[in-house]
Amino acid sequence: MAYSIDQDKCMRCGTCEIECPFHAVLISNIGTFSIDPDTCKSCGICLSVCPVDAPFREDGKKAADASAES
Ligand code: SF4
Ligand code: SF4
Repeated sequence: MAYSIDQDKCMRCGTCEIECPFHAVLISNIGTFSIDPDTCKSCGICLSVCPVDAPFREDGKKAADASAES
């Protein structure tokens, strides 16, 4: 299950794109950030580094719930 970015929260700081170890964060040509669901490993790092908690799990689980899956 991939993460997505809440576009209403995202302030486009770029931190998640820098910190994602799998290079799953994409930047559009209009400067919006999104996550490639085929590349995302649901590690939760983007959420932990985001200053406004914009990334979220598409299934609604908390990041802590995901740790048991990997
Ligand atoms: S959950 Fe992990 S793999 Fe997916 S976009 Fe965030 S940092 Fe990258
Ligand atoms: S770290 Fe958060 S605010 Fe910054 S670009 Fe990523 S989702 Fe948007």
